[in-house]
Amino acid sequence: MEKKNIDWGNLGFGYVHTDYRFVSNYKEGSWDEGELTTDPNIVLNECACVFQYAQTIFEGLKAYTTKDGKIVTFRPDLNGERMETSASRLKMPVYPAKKFVEAVKKTVKANEAYVPPYGSGATLYIRPYMFGSDPIIGVKPANEYQFRIFTTPVGPYFKGGAKPITVRISDFDRAAPHGTGHIKAGLNYAMSLYAIVDAHEKGFDENMYLDPGTRTKLEETGGANIIFITKDGKLVTPKSDSILPSITRRSLVQVAKDYLNIEVEEREVYLSELSDFAECGLCGTAAVVSPVGKIVDHGKEICLPAGMEEMGPVTKKLYDTLTGIQMGTIEAPEGWIVEI
Ligand SMILES: *Cc1c(COP(=O)(O)O)cnc(C)c1O
Repeated sequence: MEKKNIDWGNLGFGYVHTDYRFVSNYKEGSWDEGELTTDPNIVLNECACVFQYAQTIFEGLKAYTTKDGKIVTFRPDLNGERMETSASRLKMPVYPAKKFVEAVKKTVKANEAYVPPYGSGATLYIRPYMFGSDPIIGVKPANEYQFRIFTTPVGPYFKGGAKPITVRISDFDRAAPHGTGHIKAGLNYAMSLYAIVDAHEKGFDENMYLDPGTRTKLEETGGANIIFITKDGKLVTPKSDSILPSITRRSLVQVAKDYLNIEVEEREVYLSELSDFAECGLCGTAAVVSPVGKIVDHGKEICLPAGMEEMGPVTKKLYDTLTGIQMGTIEAPEGWIVEI
């Protein structure tokens, strides 16, 4: 397989056209077989439910080349299961997780020439999504849906090493109590755009959101879960019904327990505890872990002792172990690595 002539190491995180995408349509109560197509454009009626009432959900995962040259994805079954949960919450038909994984494999295989080589730091980002596609004007779920997967090569998340970032405690909420914070829906992102632009304008990298009910507990950032390391080396991660269940965070928790013998606490984490922590990291598919150096709570600066220069030592161990598992240099738990 001849790779495309792309400067892998200098790719950013943006959309790059690739050759094939997967499309399946839901009509009259069932999904069709689905197929690959070369057409990146979608033509919809002006009144399609997705445009009027934002009935749309998505997933995100990566394909990459391991040390021994295999093209793999990381725990795609969990993305499939999470998309089932998201679909149910927005009254969309479920695209079964098993078929989801098959469709992911098919799409990556068709775009093999765009999967970056081992060692480049780049990956093929995979974006599955689904939306209500028929005209809906009275408020109700659509009758017809489209499930699609496209891929786009993306560059290394950290160019020249992972520099710790500065986050602020946000005055905006990203989720409502008993709302949709736990599902991967476009609507959660639409309402976070104002907050993220505002944060950037004020010199912060990210917003750290509080629990919307009491605003005393930490939840997550706009697109990543949070892990803390205590001064005595425990991993603490916030637990709440309105946090999106990150696959990276769940994997790091398992790596901590089973590979590194680190004690893990999944529990409510209060804003008032922040100064007790030694390290903080944001976890998601894109970066795996982004170290946080400073958290600003309305002018009060909480500096993590691990500092602004590099990732804290425990976070680094977690990061190295998980990326080693992903890249095939450390043995993976059963089922984590799915070969294309
Ligand atoms: C996607 C997402 C994450 C990260 O989840 P991963 O499965 O680890 O990529 C975290 N928070 C939010 C709000 C997300 O949408």
